Amino acid sequence: MNFISRRDMLAATAAGGLLTAATVASAQTGEPILQPQRPGHGGTDPGPRNITRDLQNPDLLVPPSTDHGTLPNLRFSFSDAHMRQESGGWTRQVTVRELGIAKSVAGVNMRLNAGGVRELHWHKAAEWAYMLYGSARITAIDVQGRSFVDDVGVGDLWYFPSGIPHSIQGLGPDGAEFLLVFDDGEFDEDNTFLISDWFKHTPNEVLGKNFGVPASLFGKTPDPSALYIFPAPVPGPLSSDKTADPAGTTQRFSHRLMAQAPIKTSSGAVRIADSKVFPASTTIAAALVEIEPGGLRELHWHPNTDEWQYWIEGQARMGVFAASGQARTFDFQAGDVGYVPFAMGHYIENTGTTTVRFLEMFKSSYYADLSLNQWMALTPPELLEAHLKLDPQVTRALHKKKYPVVPA
Ligand code: MN
Ligand code: MN
Repeated sequence: MNFISRRDMLAATAAGGLLTAATVASAQTGEPILQPQRPGHGGTDPGPRNITRDLQNPDLLVPPSTDHGTLPNLRFSFSDAHMRQESGGWTRQVTVRELGIAKSVAGVNMRLNAGGVRELHWHKAAEWAYMLYGSARITAIDVQGRSFVDDVGVGDLWYFPSGIPHSIQGLGPDGAEFLLVFDDGEFDEDNTFLISDWFKHTPNEVLGKNFGVPASLFGKTPDPSALYIFPAPVPGPLSSDKTADPAGTTQRFSHRLMAQAPIKTSSGAVRIADSKVFPASTTIAAALVEIEPGGLRELHWHPNTDEWQYWIEGQARMGVFAASGQARTFDFQAGDVGYVPFAMGHYIENTGTTTVRFLEMFKSSYYADLSLNQWMALTPPELLEAHLKLDPQVTRALHKKKYPVVPA
């Protein structure tokens, strides 16, 4: 049996490890190693073990003693997803096939190099997006035949309703990376309607008749596998791509989330984008949440639907309460997808030393949450007392105003 070397240990700690009371020293090196034990419970893990993953998941290895029962897996990292590399960038997806519980929403993480184009296409699911890096140009038309072209940067959103044709292109100097969210967990990015695919599978005579030109002009369309995400010249300024549009400007398919004033507390901030502020986004509601070190996204739940999360930065843990005495805790970091099944109570705690930033996504036209604290503050005190036998100090600390991130 091998003990974990000092070098492995340092690498694992650098990878995001968090040492707790269950940490004991390696017999060989004296370095601390996280062990699956707490006082009176568990034992050491002599191996085989994957120390990097153990250290990334301290609340699975050494769960809080309040965890109990069986819950489905509620975390999946994009780092564990297949990477589809194309000539103009890359893409990977986390769908119900990767994270089985995630039936309502699927996510795609995509990189377009400068000039790289995600081919003109459409799909059955609606597409919501959050820009993570760089800048991109998006194009679409609506059902009334109006064109939409816009440039988006970090923190901007877009939303294309189901069936609406669109494209995305990375701009200079270094293209773009973004998160796509689809309102169907079964979505598959390998199953979209591509313009080149349709050309390839339509007789030239029919194409000629459709466009009113000789059939001989067709047949040169590249194989769809050569497009999908392909390199092209970086386009000129936005104004040069605004097509003459006799029908007038379409509904805005993009939204500047960072221009919104956040709901701020002393330990965090929340920006909510649903159809009230971003009218195009009729099937996806979102909240961008920031939690400072020591802060907590308060105990709450959602009365409308499941929550799908994308983790942008920082380190946190989420405790999920599933009724019938069931509860489980999961750890999160950049690139993770998280999930909270409909109506389950949950909290998110920043366990790191830097700001946590993540997206809460809902297949809904509106954002809604219920705060445990606010509920209790608005309930007759005697009724509450009869349930929980609380110290009066707790009752006095309740607040009728909602603070999504505490301390308020
Ligand atoms: Mn799309
Ligand atoms: Mn939530």
